Order: sequence, then structure tokens, then C-alpha cells
Amino acid sequence: MNGLMMQQPLLISSLIVHAERHHPDREIVSRRVEGDIHRTNYVELAARARRLAKALAALGVAPADRVATLAWNGYRHMELYYAVSGSGAILHTLNPRLHPDQLSYIADHAEDQVLFFDMTFLPLVQAVAARLKTVKHFVAMTDRAHMPAADATGAIPNLLCYEDLIEAQDDHFVWPSFDENTASSLCYTSGTTGNPKGVLYSHRSTVLHTMAAALPDCLGASATDTILPVVPMFHVNAWGIVYLAPMTGAKLVLPGPGLDGKSLYALFESEGVTISAGVPTVWQGLLGYVEENGLKFSTMRRSAIGGSACPPSMISKFLNDYGVRVIHAWGMTEMSPIGTAAAFKSKHLTQTPAQRLSIMSTQGRAVYGVDMRIVGADGQELPWDGKEAGDVHVRGPWILGSYFKNEGGDPLVKDAAGQAWFPTGDVAKFDADGYMMITDRSKDVIKSGGEWIGSIDLENIAMAHPAVAMAACIAVAHPKWDERPLLVVVKKPGVDLRRDELLAFYEGKIAKWWTPDDVVFVDAIPLGATGKMQKIKLREQLKDYKLPTA
Ligand code: ADP
Repeated sequence: MNGLMMQQPLLISSLIVHAERHHPDREIVSRRVEGDIHRTNYVELAARARRLAKALAALGVAPADRVATLAWNGYRHMELYYAVSGSGAILHTLNPRLHPDQLSYIADHAEDQVLFFDMTFLPLVQAVAARLKTVKHFVAMTDRAHMPAADATGAIPNLLCYEDLIEAQDDHFVWPSFDENTASSLCYTSGTTGNPKGVLYSHRSTVLHTMAAALPDCLGASATDTILPVVPMFHVNAWGIVYLAPMTGAKLVLPGPGLDGKSLYALFESEGVTISAGVPTVWQGLLGYVEENGLKFSTMRRSAIGGSACPPSMISKFLNDYGVRVIHAWGMTEMSPIGTAAAFKSKHLTQTPAQRLSIMSTQGRAVYGVDMRIVGADGQELPWDGKEAGDVHVRGPWILGSYFKNEGGDPLVKDAAGQAWFPTGDVAKFDADGYMMITDRSKDVIKSGGEWIGSIDLENIAMAHPAVAMAACIAVAHPKWDERPLLVVVKKPGVDLRRDELLAFYEGKIAKWWTPDDVVFVDAIPLGATGKMQKIKLREQLKDYKLPTA
């Protein structure tokens, strides 16, 4: 039809073009694997991304080819984000915390053509290189001076040096234009059941997700902010922060391998970080360090926490002890990842601190673009009354339609009107204002006498006990009730805590029959490749455990 807006595809390259023109001197600060702090800015990063795009073409990378990375959060990884997707190829971020067998399965499945890696992961690359069926070039993300010695590279054919590749090119390159529905990046889900499956993002889905993530009720970034994503660039594009920073003109601080409390805190303070994002287990390390050393955050004002449930005790500690507002958010790899964020509505502003904490502790309400519903066992939609819990279904322009190579068949379900929804595998209730409270992942649900017990609620209560460092609640078999909750606890160092004392802590906080039947103290709870508690592993470890007979 005539008389309409321009047709311009939503492309990832437009983000770096925008930042280069409008925020050229805004900094990108990285803690390097080489050990030092490196400083660059958007104008330099954009020019190096263009050189890298030419280098990729020289290596024979064609549109839609997969280019893999095994890398921390750093400026070179960011250059790859733009060079690879911007040229029309697909950036495949590999998770270095996976087992080498899983890694080679994923790289083969994705048919990766080139593998870029940080020097930290040299031993991992040495271990898998010979097995990788499709990788033609390996590139060490460093300069000539830091290249591994020849004897260390025997196992790696065709090893190239990143800085050599960049130096060999000039930056005269115009980002190509193509259909916005072209694939841009690929990330595999950890695949708790079956093989890992690939989630393929498009330029369109990525740009739209970035716009939503930048909104004030979500990550809420602006050109005056300094963002430090603790969430890795190797998992779901660091929740979109690698795109959001150039879009908004925010300064970006990339922590590299320094994810311990001390290294993170040093960067927060030296770079004036205002916004950060990560999973609860990372914040635990940081808060522990800050507490032990009697420190404060001088610039941090907002911290997005998600990936697993953030205990309310952590939200109130951040707010009351450090003046940092936690934005509790929920999403998943299949959702790019953001679905909901716990921002207030106007009416909450005049509520009591306790009421506000209860809103902040929910997983939040849907961001524009994500449509949600909950359904019962019969597939019927359930009301948002704060009481009924059901399976969470989502739909929207940055939600998965099918897995890469159609692995696992059609994942969607249809409603009565024929609309397709993605079932998330999470169980939740919604209140009348649309705030979601996740009670469990469906595979972690504890079913006692036919009724559900929410393991997240039980974990949150345990985490509020001052002697508890980490708590997981799992189902164990019970002769009468089928399943009962068992609490598995890691104590804080040097404290004494007994089973009965912890169980008494539940009194009055939940229905009595929800109280865990027993407590097992352990040295550590197994964490997965993205820092989440692995309850499946925990259940395996405790498979011989017997509940005490009453
Ligand atoms: P995986 O856990 O397989 O690595 P994702 O990283 O995509 O996959 O994790 C998505 C899942 O993480 C969600 O389906 C949900 O169960 C859990 N999750 C994410 N954010 C939250 C949150 N704020 N509260 C509770 N659970 C969450």
C-alpha cells in the first residue's frame, strides 16, 4: 500500500552503527584474560567489528554459517557479536562450563565452521579439537605476544591469532542489509532431559527484545548508566545487555573471568557501575564479600536478578543495607530470555515496605511483547486470582517457535482459538494485577497426597535463616503421601544449626503440612553450567536417603 512508513529491516548491525554515531566516546571497559583492564569505546569497537567482518569473509565464512565462541564477557567477544551477526552469519555461543562430551556434541550439531576462544579455555579446546567434525579454523582471542607456545597447540589444527586477523584488514566495510528474519545467534539450552537443543534467535527478535529490555520497568538503562553484566555472554546473549548498551549509549563494563566477589566489587566501584544483572548464586558471593569487609556500593542503584528464584531475604538485604533496588526478572533461553520483571505499579508506591517487598519478590509482570497464560491439567486456562497455579504458556515475537533443526518436533500447543503457545515448563500463579509467582519447574514439583507443594517457597524461607548459605528442596518418595519435601542445606561457615531448629523456623510461615519432613546438611549443592541448583543431580545423590519414620 502507498503512503506508509519506510521499510527498514531491524538488524543487529544498526545498534553498533547507532552507538558509533551518537555515543562514539562512551567506554567499554573489560577485565582481560591477560590480567589487565582494557578500555575502548563504541567508535573503536565498531571499526574493529568491521575489520573482523572482513576477516571472517576472508576465512570463508558465508551467510548463515555458524561461528562459535568459547569466551568470557569482554570486548573481543562483543566485537564477534557484531561482526558475525552483522555479516549475516550466526554467532553460536558455547558454554565453557559444559562437559567436553556435551560441547563437542553441540558444536557438531550446530556444524560450527570457526571456533574463537579465550586463552582460559585452551585446555578445553585442546581436549575437544580433534573430535570436532566441522570446525575448519580455531582462533585464539589474544595478541601475538600471548599466543600459546607451539607445543601447547599440537592438538589444535589451523590455530590463528585474533589480533593478527584484525590487523590484516582495514575498516572500510558497509554492513550488508538483508531480511530481518535472518538468524543471528544460536544458544543451546542445558537440556535437563535428552540432548541439548538449539534456540535460534533472529535479527528481528533480538532488536525487539532489546527495545523491551531497555524499558524503565525492565532493565531500565539510559545513556547516563554504566552496566556490568555478570550474566555471561555465553548464555542467552547476556540477557540482551550486549545489544542494549549500544542501543541506549550506556557505558559497558565486562568482568571477564573475574566473577568472584572481590574482583566484581573492585570493578563496580572503580567504574561507577549503576546497573548490573546476574543469577542469585553470583550475588551471594558478592554480598558475602561486601558484608565481610564492611563495604558499601557507592554508585549501584539497580540489580536485575533472575535465572532462578531470588530469595526475598536477598531482595531486602540489597535494598535496606545497600540501597540497591532488585528487579526480579524471569525468562528462559527459549524467550531471548526476558518475559517478566517485578516493577511497581503506581498504587504500590504508597504501600508499606512489607507489601512492596512482596511485590518485588514475585517474578513480576509481563513486559510488552510477551503474552502469557496459565493452564490446568485439563488444558483449560486458569484465572489470575493469586490462588490457582498452573503451567505457564507464553507467546510473542521473541519466543521460540521450534528448536534448531526441528529437534524434538513441534514444541508448541494450541488453544481453543487455534493460537500457538510455548509451554515453559514452569508452574505459577498470577495475581489480579498480573504479577506472576513461580511455585516450581514442573519437573521439580513435589506432589504430596495429590496436592502440590511449592519448593521455591520452602527454599526462600530457609534462605531467610541467618545460618543458611544455600537451600534446595526436593521431593523424596513417601509410602503414604507419594512424595514429601526434603530440605538440603549448606550452612554458612562456622555456624551451628540443627535440624529441629531449622524446621521450627517454618512454624507460622506456611501451612503445617508443607513443612519439610527432614533436613540434610551437605557441603555443597551441585550447580549447573549457568549457576543454577541442579535438583536432578541432588535427587540422584540422595537416592538412597530414607525419610525418618515418624
Ligand atoms: P536452563 O535452566 O535449562 O539453563 P534457562 O537458563 O533458559 O534454562 O532457564 C530457564 C528457567 O529458569 C525457567 O524456565 C525457570 O524455571 C527458571 N527461572 C528463570 N528465572 C527465574 C526466576 N526469577 N524465578 C524462578 N525461576 C526462574
